[in-house]
Order: sequence, then C-alpha cells, then structure tokens
Amino acid sequence: MKKTFILAALLAGVFAAQPASAWSGWGHKLIADIAEKHLTPEAKAEIERYIHGSIVDDAAWMDRVASWNRSKSHIAGWEQTSWWHMYTIGPDGRPDSRRAYNGDGDLLPNLEKCIGNLKNFRELTDSAVVINLRCVVHMIGDMHCPSHVYYTEFPDVFSRPKPKDPNEKRITRYDQFPLTYEGKPKRYHGLWDGLSIRAVYPELGEEFEPYVRKLDKWSKKKIAKACEGTVEEWAMENARNCRAIYDWAKPGDNIDRSFFVEHQELSKSQLVKAAYRLAHTLNGIFGQPTAD
Ligand SMILES: [Zn+2]
Repeated sequence: MKKTFILAALLAGVFAAQPASAWSGWGHKLIADIAEKHLTPEAKAEIERYIHGSIVDDAAWMDRVASWNRSKSHIAGWEQTSWWHMYTIGPDGRPDSRRAYNGDGDLLPNLEKCIGNLKNFRELTDSAVVINLRCVVHMIGDMHCPSHVYYTEFPDVFSRPKPKDPNEKRITRYDQFPLTYEGKPKRYHGLWDGLSIRAVYPELGEEFEPYVRKLDKWSKKKIAKACEGTVEEWAMENARNCRAIYDWAKPGDNIDRSFFVEHQELSKSQLVKAAYRLAHTLNGIFGQPTAD
C-alpha cells in the first residue's frame, strides 16, 4: 500500500508544474551553475561519478519532493519531503532550533546532517550520496534567500481564530503577511521567493548563462572572505543582512516591480554568496584526494 502511494507520489511529482520555491527555481539553477564553475576539477569529477550530469538539474529537487508531500508527514525512507526549508533566528541573532516550525527541524540541523553524511561519502551507497548532495545543493541556496530566515522577534500576528471559510488558510507566520503587488493581493514571503531575482531579470529562463556571467563577478579575495566560517556563522550573517526586508515593507503596503529593482543588491549578493559557499562546501568534501 505504502509502495503504491510512493509510486503515485513520484509520478505526480514528475508531471507537476515547477513548484513555487525560494529563488523561483531559476535562482536555484543560477546558484548551482555558478557553484559548478567554482568546483575544483577533482570535486567536479567525483560529483559527476554519482550524478552523471550537472548539479544544476538537481538544484530544485528538494522543492519537487516537498510538493509530493503536502501533508508534511513522514514517508518512510523519504524524510527529506517533510523538512522545513527555512531556519529560525532568536532575538539574540543566533539559531533557535527550539522554535523549529515543524517537528522535523528546520534547515540548519538538516543541512549540517547532510554535509556530515557526505564527509564519509565513500562509505555511503551511491543513492545516499545523490540524495545528500541534492539536499546540500538546495539548502545552501535556500538559506541565503532573504525570505527564508524566520525571526522569532516578530509576533505571529496573523494567528487568529479558525476562519469561517474552510478554504481560507490560517496564516500564522509573520513572513507571510498580506500586501498588494502590482494591484494583486499577495504574501510577502512568496514575493521574495518568486520575484527577488525575476523582477530584476524579467527575461530569466532557459537561457540563464548571460545572468551567470553578470552575477559571477566577485574577486577571489572577496569570495574567500565570504566562505570563511561555519554554516551556523553563515546563517547568522545572512540573518543580519536580510533583516532589513521587514523594514522595507509592512503588512498592507502596495508595492510593484520597482521594489525588487531598488533592493536588488541584497538579492544578488545573497544569491552569489550561496553559490560560492556551495562550491566551497563541495570542494571541501569531494575535492580531497583518495586515501589509497
Ligand atoms: Zn526550498
């Protein structure tokens, strides 16, 4: 019975449209493509042995599997489908896993777990390497998306009694506050996911190489500086840099494309930083010479 369900879920995923996701899916591809250009030849060759292609194709895999599991419940062997793609920052600016949004923990411990698993990749089965790799590629991207930091300093103001209309969603998280974008009612979080890069590059699509060249411009020194520190330190730095998005817009505001054009420096720098840190992480894991 369970097997039938998983098969049905897998097939549904194959035919599903590209799901809504951080960085709009294309952003994830940009991140993975830039990261791939910064892999050492050793790391690139080792990764290709497992995925038989490019990490670009796997960049949004986690969003696809998340969309298979809308109930966010465990599917045996597919725990990644219920992971949260955000992380929580407490009032002291540090990760606060006690406030994790769902029972499977937020992004940071799961990302650290996958990186830890890959450090022993030679002892893992090929499919376990592939799954952990897909998760690392995606979660390093997501952790840099400005709307993917959940600040506990904000009250969950939209928590309210059960709505009269059963189809109306109960909004409980501050990042999901309602506002108007180009005359249409939207939620703030989703606008950053979908438009922070696409509003800047409206033509972004299959031909994304020109945008890779536009974005991948940091000096070696600047890249090395950005890659210093631990995943947790990267998360805290992201949280400090992205906090401003909650000063730039408030519930009920009326914004349009110019909002994301005005704030493009944040989205662009977060996106390339994700790419450089992803390459740095993968080089550290797969760029090592074999022991024998
Ligand atoms: Zn995601």
